[in-house]
Amino acid sequence: MQQHEIVVIGAGPAGAVASTLLKRKGHNVLMLERQQFPRFSIGESLLAHCLEFVEEAGMMEAVHAAGFQVKNGAAFACGDLYTDFDFRDKFTPGPGTTFQVERAKFDQVLANEAERQGVEVRYRQEVVAARFDGTQPELDVRDAQGNEYTVQSHFVLDASGYGRVLARLCDLEKPSSLPPRKAIFTHIEDRIIDPGFDREKILITVHPQQRGIWYWLIPFSGGRCSIGVVGSETLFGDQSGDLMQTLRTLIDAAPNLKRLLPNAIWDTPANTIGGYSANVKSLYGPGYALLGNAAEFLDPVFSSGVTIALRSSKLAADAVHRQLGGETVNWQADFTDPLMIGVETFRAYVHGWYDGVFQDVVFYENAQPDVRRMISSILAGYAWDTSNPFVADPQRRLRVLGELCKPTALTV
Ligand code: FAD
Repeated sequence: MQQHEIVVIGAGPAGAVASTLLKRKGHNVLMLERQQFPRFSIGESLLAHCLEFVEEAGMMEAVHAAGFQVKNGAAFACGDLYTDFDFRDKFTPGPGTTFQVERAKFDQVLANEAERQGVEVRYRQEVVAARFDGTQPELDVRDAQGNEYTVQSHFVLDASGYGRVLARLCDLEKPSSLPPRKAIFTHIEDRIIDPGFDREKILITVHPQQRGIWYWLIPFSGGRCSIGVVGSETLFGDQSGDLMQTLRTLIDAAPNLKRLLPNAIWDTPANTIGGYSANVKSLYGPGYALLGNAAEFLDPVFSSGVTIALRSSKLAADAVHRQLGGETVNWQADFTDPLMIGVETFRAYVHGWYDGVFQDVVFYENAQPDVRRMISSILAGYAWDTSNPFVADPQRRLRVLGELCKPTALTV
């Protein structure tokens, strides 16, 4: 039986930032990671707001030094329509730029920073069982050689992402409010020569005929890009053939992408991920809390995953610190409720994206500058700023704005 004050499951962004924030508050933290880093992860376009937590964890210098592609906004295209939002021109104060990152490298930078600041990081250690019914939480861990040991602690943070360790082990799984969708993606050497192409923005392209299908193009530093397409299984149609061929056929259906990528080198096998939207019955229980994707994941369209993950890390780290210091923490009021403000904001815009209303808003050509600034804030990740009317009342505001932005040149 090993003893640690706090155990964090998973060394992705949520785990690395939560464990470092707690270490900086003077706690003893063990972070257990199933894989050996560096390892691939999807989720490469960051939002500006998430850098506030990277900064608070003392990791900004290392992130800057890694030389990632700077990102200052999001561009949207559909047929001949094009618009972009600059995160520096936004309603909410805070950073206006961020990065587009190869996650293998980014996650390694954060985990190394956690270790440098005193977190004990153990790779190739898989949490296989959890007990929260005794006086202290206990986790059973399987090491790289297949040996098992038990760790006892005062608190467990589950940051296991798509591993969803405690959701599975503690019967917390709950279906998502969003229908299942899937993504096919790869990395390319893009060789884009179009002088109008803005490498400092993610490019989101809507399929010209089917608005439920959209593409991401995320430029990295060094002339490479992440490219992917998202849609429901039925919209994608028959995929019995080669995955790369399916991806390239879908990309060829978007004229702006076809125009941008005539010289691209498709040197990396395509990959696919599906059914990623997930939810849980509760974000906390006696002796544990769930962070990032280990709790709820909505949808990739607004690149909100890492930002929600880091916001949850910050809220949980503060609450755990207070609890271990002897204070009574109301996990619903101090953790779940504040986190859900931003999650519900993004949820409203994700639903609006797929039912077409938010697409109408994004492509509307006569939008007032102050309204665009409020939308830009949300796209930059400031989805918790309730002084922004589009955060305070997202569904109603979006419906009203959607009416104003109709009719559209797009065909459903
Ligand atoms: P992860 O980064 O998944 O880290 C979890 C870690 O836990 C992993 O390293 C895993 O190995 C480890 N683990 C799992 N099980 C165990 C176990 N039993 N024991 C020990 N360790 C374990 N987000 C964005 O911000 N921007 C984007 O552009 C974006 N694009 C996306 C595109 C798609 C198609 C999808 C599906 C998602 C996208 N996301 C994006 C979301 C993003 O991938 C996640 O939100 C983000 O990675 C969550 O971080 P995390 O730290 O919670 O989990």
